[in-house]
Amino acid sequence: MAQNGKKTPFADWLRKHTDREGVYFESLELVMSDDLEDLGRAEQRWITTLREDGHRLLNLTEGGLGPRGYVWTQPQRDAAASRARGRSTGVSRRGPDSPNWGRAIHSDEQKARWSEQRRGSITGASNPNFGKFGQEHPSFGHRLSEETKARLSEQKRGSNNPNFGKVMSDEERRVRSEKLKGRPRPSSIRSAHTRHHTNKGVFKESCRHCQADRLAAEGERE
Ligand SMILES: [Zn+2]
Repeated sequence: MAQNGKKTPFADWLRKHTDREGVYFESLELVMSDDLEDLGRAEQRWITTLREDGHRLLNLTEGGLGPRGYVWTQPQRDAAASRARGRSTGVSRRGPDSPNWGRAIHSDEQKARWSEQRRGSITGASNPNFGKFGQEHPSFGHRLSEETKARLSEQKRGSNNPNFGKVMSDEERRVRSEKLKGRPRPSSIRSAHTRHHTNKGVFKESCRHCQADRLAAEGERE
């Protein structure tokens, strides 16, 4: 497939990593089932897990069956979850239970190379989720656990932040300033809420984002 010049991120990736001996794939999980839906669900679990662990994946959707970008409704997800519960096969093993725990599967060098090759390949308008907001977006209603949020936050803190220690040159400042001229700041009620409420620990009765955050926090405790 990669030979016939198809222009998809996956085909690009495959071309870059194929040599005369072919390309080496590592299997993540053997799904012992002849039900195609089990396979789709296993894929979804892996995509969720790997994304939450900070891997940048080529997968454009959250995986599973159906056409690209198909979004499962909550009742469908609940039904699938309850079908999957208590089953001995297809269990995703995370952290220390994973067979790959603590193993360096790829060298940092290799990972840096891949990261560089992928840079910008699914950003902006080339991302199928570009311009999708609210219920339109596949991640709508998806909530991260506190543990995951803490890990993601830690990954971007201090020297781990890609902008750490970066200082704009006068020229860069001028260009940025020119671009932002005339645009009201903060750019949305949402970011005003983040800046003035979330970041300062302020709760405002009249702010719908404060209300929404509180509802979500209550939902999490239940
Ligand atoms: Zn607020």
